[in-house]
Amino acid sequence: MQGELRDLNRYPDRDAVALRAALADYLGHGLVAANVWAANGSNEVQQQLLQTFAGPGRTALGFGPSYSMHPLLAQGTGTRWIGALRDPDFGLTPDAAVAQLDEHDPDVVFLCSPNNPTGTALDSTVVGAVLERARGMVVVDEAYTEFRRAGTPTALELLPQHPRLVVSRTMSKAFGFAGGRLGYFAADPAVVDAVQLVRLPYHLSAITQAAARAAVAQRDALLANVEVIKVQRDRIVGTLRARGFRVADSDANFVLFEVGGDQKIVWQRLLDRGVLIRDVGLPGWLRVTAGTPAETDAFLEALT
Ligand code: PMP
Repeated sequence: MQGELRDLNRYPDRDAVALRAALADYLGHGLVAANVWAANGSNEVQQQLLQTFAGPGRTALGFGPSYSMHPLLAQGTGTRWIGALRDPDFGLTPDAAVAQLDEHDPDVVFLCSPNNPTGTALDSTVVGAVLERARGMVVVDEAYTEFRRAGTPTALELLPQHPRLVVSRTMSKAFGFAGGRLGYFAADPAVVDAVQLVRLPYHLSAITQAAARAAVAQRDALLANVEVIKVQRDRIVGTLRARGFRVADSDANFVLFEVGGDQKIVWQRLLDRGVLIRDVGLPGWLRVTAGTPAETDAFLEALT
């Protein structure tokens, strides 16, 4: 990083090629720098995608409950947002997805897998069905993908056959690099070329590029906690189900469970016992983030 700091009087590599090559290497699946684009967080990546492929007179569709920024980014780019729905168990079947696409015919589709705030991941058949039916771009937000369970797919596998697919990733979650602000996507090189038309010149600072490259190079150390968190996540799901709670399947680092009553009251009672979890605004449900074994102990104990 010292070289970059010495050269701070100069503009950075506006195409961030070295970083994109490092991210492509991390992703694998035969991807190269030309398939990858990076920006200041996946929020910016997704904003750039909407600036490129949506905007006034166009529509973007997502299946809620899902990540609250998708509609806000649409709004900010003058894109009309269409709030389609997930199934009652927070999953999504190919038939339900395709029926809603047929109804609205959006220009851009957002899928979130594993989904925030529910934790549920999408089967490849759902992503495949959406890609077959959608007329425009399909963005799969995989912010939490490093936490997925064995056997849960990533949409990266579908990239070679689908030039309208974009897989959005971030270093904010599993890498623990939220303060570094680095999000990225993988797609056909033509998508990367198109997004380069809307990005601001030198949008990624030399410091961001250098820090993110260092973090990718140190990924074994930075991702070491992921396995610990997955074990605690599965323990929370298993314990809550054994106690009779309804729990959404989770491939993320958090668990959504039904409290059986007013979630605001349960949230406050947990806080009174020193445990802070999240009320994500879904009536009757709360979301707990998986952390250390001691934190799981404290949460499960307080919930009793
Ligand atoms: N996508 C999802 C599903 C998220 O939950 C978040 C963060 N809450 C983001 C994207 C944005 O992350 P960042 O901009 O830090 O990459």
